[in-house]
Amino acid sequence: MSKTLIIGAGGVGRVVAHKCAINESVFGEITLASRTKSKCDAIAREIEQKRGVKIKTAAIDADDKAALIELIKTTGAKIVLNIALPYQDLTIMDACVETKADYLDTANYESPDLAKFEYKQQWARNDAFKNAGVTALLGSGFDPGVTNVFSAYALKHYFDEIHYLDILDCNAGDHGYPFATNFNPEINLREVSAKGRYWENGQWIETDPLSVKIVWDYPEVGAKDSYLLYHEELESLVKHIKGLKRARFFMTFGQSYLTHMRCLENVGMLGIAPVDHKGVKIVPIEFLKTLLPDPATLGARTKGKTNIGCVFDGVKEGKKRKIYIYNVCDHEECYREVFAQAVSYTTGVPAMIGAKLILEGKWKKAGVWNMERFDPDPFMDELNRQGLPWKILELEA
Ligand code: NDP
Repeated sequence: MSKTLIIGAGGVGRVVAHKCAINESVFGEITLASRTKSKCDAIAREIEQKRGVKIKTAAIDADDKAALIELIKTTGAKIVLNIALPYQDLTIMDACVETKADYLDTANYESPDLAKFEYKQQWARNDAFKNAGVTALLGSGFDPGVTNVFSAYALKHYFDEIHYLDILDCNAGDHGYPFATNFNPEINLREVSAKGRYWENGQWIETDPLSVKIVWDYPEVGAKDSYLLYHEELESLVKHIKGLKRARFFMTFGQSYLTHMRCLENVGMLGIAPVDHKGVKIVPIEFLKTLLPDPATLGARTKGKTNIGCVFDGVKEGKKRKIYIYNVCDHEECYREVFAQAVSYTTGVPAMIGAKLILEGKWKKAGVWNMERFDPDPFMDELNRQGLPWKILELEA
């Protein structure tokens, strides 16, 4: 029987735990561990009541490699799903190499002290994973994650060459708060307030934060302002999807979110360097996280839908072609199923699917991999089966 360790019991961790329990025959004995054990216990109770599946829980500080190694050994985990924060990616990867467990995450490593993410340090562990004979699957959420798989699928079945890629992420949900982030506030605000960046004709072009906007008519949601951001899947996609001339990422934001974010930034609340407050050192963005609603609690009050997808523009058999591959997810339906809002759901379901494909041997290959490197077909099938059905819209090329 397989044994599975999930680390992180926030909004996304809850979805992953539920979905692994639903697929218990693949995941076997499941342990949910996080810094705050009481959060794991609450989720475990929920899963037992709703699904009749018992999962174990544990306390772990995933910044502590020795403690991680010990936990992986005592649980006997064959795979570790890192659903904590990107800060923990490297320690968890190293503990997996040492214990010969497979590894998966949903977000690219970044250091708490520098608001910059890149794959360099995770890719540098490729030989270590190869030598240990274990798999590391990077970025198995929705974006990154499903967007990478959509890209591989489009190239496999719809195009000879993709020239232009636009990844579009729309959350048209309403949680009723003037300001809240739908995943970890610190990670979210670091990403959104950073400079934008896109790839064109072989080079990166930097833009001022939120200075490039398009309006996209999202099926089942409507037309929304969508702002250019730098997003981590661009780094691997421009490397692996041959023929790309341009790759960009856009995300929708409401005016209330943008006004609050600018105001917080202007007064220094997004700062990541410690400041002295009455003799105590505090990091402004960490303090802000304490004040903001916990994204894991938004599920019960969020209404509306998400629409996330990719527009591909290229050629097939000498003819121009343009398509939009996307998923629509309803916040209230997600809550009914797993007590979480759609942003946690659209991240947690692909994390479970990536791990399932590794355990089933379909995506099991020693080394460190981004999602677009594997055959997309089994993943696309699982999306339809596990709650994230996708559609394809032919557009005028
Ligand atoms: P939350 O902040 O809700 O949850 C994070 C969890 O990780 C908490 O349970 C927290 O514990 C735990 N944690 C933090 N630090 C440690 C540590 N040192 N050791 C052990 N556990 C720790 O975040 P979300 O659930 O919203 O997001 C989870 C991840 O998903 C993030 O990395 C985020 O970037 C990623 N994500 C990816 C997306 C994608 O599409 N690819 C989209 C959205 C999110 P505690 O409660 O004690 O603080």
